Amino acid sequence: MLTLALSKGRIFEETLPLLAAAGITVLEDPEKSRKLILPTNRDDVRVVLVRATDVPTYVQYGGADLGVAGKDVLLEHGGEGLYQPLDLNIAKCRMSVAVRKDFDYAAAVKQGSRIRVATKYTEVARQHFADKGVHVDLIKLYGSMELAPLTGLADAIVDLVSTGSTLKANHLVEVEHFMDISSRLVVNQAALKLKRDQLKPLIDAFASAIPA
Ligand code: ATP
Ligand code: MG
Repeated sequence: MLTLALSKGRIFEETLPLLAAAGITVLEDPEKSRKLILPTNRDDVRVVLVRATDVPTYVQYGGADLGVAGKDVLLEHGGEGLYQPLDLNIAKCRMSVAVRKDFDYAAAVKQGSRIRVATKYTEVARQHFADKGVHVDLIKLYGSMELAPLTGLADAIVDLVSTGSTLKANHLVEVEHFMDISSRLVVNQAALKLKRDQLKPLIDAFASAIPA
């Protein structure tokens, strides 16, 4: 049995065409079913639904043989125990710094002030500001980052942006786009050796179907 870990929503939807290229169809719709294990047209392949941030953990410890996870999630996780053969070029977005319109980010950076930054991505943010030589106090949040500058919790946020409409709706402006994000295929290192005959054709089919 091959177990593929996916998160519901965009990653699931955008992985379906890649699975189709490998001749695999998922037989249930996660938006309609409450099941967390979804059968496919192949008796030897199943999909497990986990939180996006849990995909690397499942694959690392062998709860799944392979999975699809965003670069953001992989950088926070650290990638230990994971083989990352393919950038799938799906679920594309960017990692950015955003602030309230009345906060002069450039001036704060130039003056060397300590900036309070709220984010779910503390590792990515820590690295980014260290590279820039900017002093920050990081505040870990688990969601609704846009609220932090509006309530005075933080001066800035580090978050994923795609269209920018969420920022706009909350009167925030993107002041620094510092990383492009897409999702990658991750494979358990032991499974890659033990289940190579099953995994290799799947990885090759995925590779052939990566969107431009
Ligand atoms: P949850 O919604 O369960 O809290 P999540 O927000 O991490 O988890 P998704 O919103 O499905 O889950 O995001 C999954 C992945 O898709 C992210 O890790 C990121 O790589 C990518 N992603 C997130 N937001 C966007 C976006 N607006 N556009 C494109 N890709 C995105
Ligand atoms: Mg989300």
